[in-house]
Parts: sequence; structure tokens; C-alpha cells
Amino acid sequence: MYKANFDLTGKVAVVTGGGRGIGRALAEGLAYAGADVVLTARTEEQVKIAAMEISQSTGRRTLGISCDVTDKDSIDAVVGKVIRDFGRIDILVNNAGTSVRHGALDLTEDEWDQVIDTNFKSVFLMSQAVGRHMVKQKYGRIVNIASVASELTLAYGTPYGPSKAGVVHLTRQMANEWAQHGVTVNAISPWFFKTSLNEKALENDEFRTALERRTPMGRLGQLEELVAPVVFFCSDGAGYVTGQNLFVDGGTTHFGM
Ligand code: NDP
Repeated sequence: MYKANFDLTGKVAVVTGGGRGIGRALAEGLAYAGADVVLTARTEEQVKIAAMEISQSTGRRTLGISCDVTDKDSIDAVVGKVIRDFGRIDILVNNAGTSVRHGALDLTEDEWDQVIDTNFKSVFLMSQAVGRHMVKQKYGRIVNIASVASELTLAYGTPYGPSKAGVVHLTRQMANEWAQHGVTVNAISPWFFKTSLNEKALENDEFRTALERRTPMGRLGQLEELVAPVVFFCSDGAGYVTGQNLFVDGGTTHFGM
């Protein structure tokens, strides 16, 4: 029988940056698809509340736990706890991210490091720590949240764009290495979705109008429109799909005029 299988029942998922915005939406979407979900972020209270709300709405087991994805010790402690408490990790969504809005001439070295470490190095550190377990269990699904900025240059995007281009290439690299172990690694590249990351910029009417004009669908994305693409990559049904970067962008990236 040929039947699409997107059911995540029995899977254990970890979502970084799960306290708010895209990560919060993805954690809830994975739980509705059947997974037990661990949400991580630095702000413990926010991530604990998100975990509790998701458990109440979906009936799945959840955990909200503090973790700084730029800190290897913090990552190792959290991955160890999840393995002890949940027994395994099947799905990792590397979503935590940040941005600074300065031109290249004004950017400080600390700002460069902050963006590169949070958006790019973290994906390596998290994937390595979780990947060790996935390779051993011969099963895993890693989804990295990149950005349209991995492909297009954006205003004030000096550290952000390169950090996301790095994420896309790292996705392909890990996909190549771990395919033989049943571990797939894919990326999602969103265009603009309103979150705390960009709400200030979006308050500027001129900017928002220009953005909508630049987008073939004429609007920003809705958070729920990221859920199905991520659930697809996390599913057993996507077992032969790896090393891909899927643009969820209302048609923007390959739009000439
Ligand atoms: P938000 O600012 O709303 O959320 C970011 C999340 O990442 C928060 O939960 C934050 O929690 C967490 N985070 C930030 N730094 C760290 C850290 N060092 N360690 C652990 N967690 C951290 O942003 P979005 O939801 O918009 O962004 C999510 C991802 O999507 C990012 O990777 C972003 O680059 C990407 N993206 C977003 C787009 C958009 O339009 N919104 C477009 C394209 C890509 P805390 O501060 O508590 O640690």
C-alpha cells in the first residue's frame, strides 16, 4: 500500500529556541504530529511555560529546559538529560538564532562572533552532540532553520547572511556523512515571518510595504506555514530526502521581477 506517513508518534524531538517565535510554533506542530518534545532556550521561564502550554494543548510529554547553544557544556548537559529522561532523541530542530542590524563598517568583532556562534557554530555543536546518539541508534532527523538570507544578500546582513549560508553547507556536509547511518539532515529557509527577531523592522510601514511588494505572494509568511515542511522532513516518509534546503518564501528567492 502506498500511503504517505507523516505520523511522529513515539518519536522524541528537541527544538532549540523553542520559547517563542518560529521554534515555539514548530515545537507545537511536532507535538500535534505525535512527538514528545523538549524545548530549549536561555530564558528558562519562557521555555517552561511554552512546554507546559504545548503539553496541555496536544497531550504529548514535553520538557522546557534552559540551554545556551553557544556553550558546549550547556549543550552536553541538556543532551545528556534528555537521553536519561526520554531514552533517545529522534528529531533535532536547530532553530535558535539571532541577528544584529548594522552595516559592515559599524559591526564590532563581538557582534560578528555573537551572530556566527548563535546561528552557525551552534548547529555544529548541537548536531554533533545529538548526532552521536542518532548514528548509534541508526535513525535520526535533523532540520536546520536557515534563511532566504543564505542565498540573497539583505540590508545589514553582513554576519547574518554568511551564518545562514554556513548552515546550508553544513547541512549538506552532515547529510553526506550520516546518510549511511539512517540520519537525514535538511534545512528550511524562511522569508519574513513576524517574530521578536524582526518586529521592530516590520513596524516601519515603508519597509513592510517594500517587503510585501518584493514577495510574489504579496504577504509575509504565517508561522503555521512552516510547520508542515518541518514535519515532512522529520517524518519516516521523508527517509530518502537528505541534504536539501527548502525555501518557504512565498516565491521570493527565485523571483526575478
Ligand atoms: P525569535 O527571536 O523570536 O526567537 C529566537 C529563539 O532563539 C528564542 O527562543 C531565543 O531564546 C533563542 N536563542 C537565541 N539565542 C540563543 C542561544 N544563544 N542559546 C539558546 N537559544 C537562543 O526569532 P525567530 O523565531 O524569528 O527565529 C528563529 C530562527 O528562524 C532563527 O534561526 C532565525 O534566524 C530564523 N529565521 C527567522 C525568520 C523570520 O522572519 N522570523 C526568517 C528566516 C529565518 P532566548 O533568547 O531565551 O535564548
